[in-house]
Amino acid sequence: MALGEFALIARYFSAVGAARADVRVGVGDDAAVLQCPPDAQLVAAIDTLVEGVHFPAGSAPQSIGHRALAVNLSDLAAMGARPAWALLALTLPRAEERWLEDFARGFDALARRHDLALVGGDTTRGPLCVSVQVLGFAPQGRILLRGGARLGDALYVTGHPGDAACGLGLEQGTLAGVAAEDAQYLRARFLYPEPRVEWGTWLIGRASACIDVSDGLLGDAAKLAAASACGVQLDVERLPLSGALRRACGAEQALRFALSGGDDYELLFTVPQPRVAHFEQEAAAGAIACSRIGTLCAGGPAQLRRAGNVIEFSHSGYDHFAL
Ligand code: ADP
Ligand code: MG
Repeated sequence: MALGEFALIARYFSAVGAARADVRVGVGDDAAVLQCPPDAQLVAAIDTLVEGVHFPAGSAPQSIGHRALAVNLSDLAAMGARPAWALLALTLPRAEERWLEDFARGFDALARRHDLALVGGDTTRGPLCVSVQVLGFAPQGRILLRGGARLGDALYVTGHPGDAACGLGLEQGTLAGVAAEDAQYLRARFLYPEPRVEWGTWLIGRASACIDVSDGLLGDAAKLAAASACGVQLDVERLPLSGALRRACGAEQALRFALSGGDDYELLFTVPQPRVAHFEQEAAAGAIACSRIGTLCAGGPAQLRRAGNVIEFSHSGYDHFAL
C-alpha cells in the first residue's frame, strides 16, 4: 500500500538527527520553535540538490541524504559556525519505502555526528529535488568571511581537492581502468563528502578569510580574493593531489580536476604572514590537515604559476547559468 504524506513524514522524518534541548517544538506542528543561545550569532545557509544536475539519476539514496546535508554543513564550516538545526524540503516522484529509509539513514548518520536536529520541512511530489536549510551558531562578531584577507596572506586548502570530481567521473562511467581500491576511495569522496566543521570552528581567530570549495578550487579562490579586494597566485606544484587521483587519471588531468572539478567541500582559507609560522606548527601537530597553495597578491583575479612562471588555464569552475 502506498504511504500517505503524513505517515511518510511521521515514519521517516520525525526523529532524524540528534535530540537537542534547544528544540522546543520540532517536526509535527506548523513550524519549529527553536531556542537561540543569548551570546551567539545565528548563521543560516540553504542548498538544493537536483537529480541529474547535482547527482547522477539513480544515485544511491543514502548518498543523496548524506550529500544534501553535507553541502550545507560545509557552508557553515566555511563561516566557522557550529551546526544546530536543519529543515528539509523534499520533492519525490513517488513514496518508495526502501528509498526513503536509505535516504533518511544517510541524512541521520551525518546529522548525529554533528549534533544536529532535523526540526521541520516540506514533502511534495514531483521530479526528485532535495533542499536543505541549516542553522548554526558562531561566537558574536568572530565569523569567518570571504572578504577578510589582505595582500600577502598565505592561502591554504584542506584535504585533497580533485578527488570528488574524479569520483563523479567513475560514477558516470567516463573514467575506467582504475584500480579497485583507488576507485572505491575516489567514489566515496564524491558520494560521502566530509564537511570540515571542526576545522572551520578551529580556524576562528586564526584564518583571515575562508570559503568552502564547491564549484572548483580556482574559481572559489578567485571569489575569496575578489571579496577581499585582492588577486591570488596559486602554485600548481603545491596542490595536494592524492595518490589515488594521480594514479587514476595522470598528473595533468588530476590538476584539472583539482582546479576546476567541484564537489570537494574542502575549506580554502588565508592566514596573515605574521601568523604563518605558528599556524603551520599547530597544523603539523595535527590541528588541521591543510597545504599552503598560494598567496594573496595585487591585481586579479586568479593567476596560476608553475616553477615560478605564470601559466594559462581556461576552466574557472561551475556556473549553472554560464552560456
Ligand atoms: P503544513 O501543511 O502545515 O506546512 P506539513 O504537512 O507540510 O505542514 O508538515 C507537517 C510537519 O512535518 C511540519 O512540522 C513540517 O515541518 C514537518 N515536515 C514535513 N515534511 C518534512 C520533511 N521532509 N522532513 C522533516 N519534517 C517535515
Ligand atoms: Mg501547517
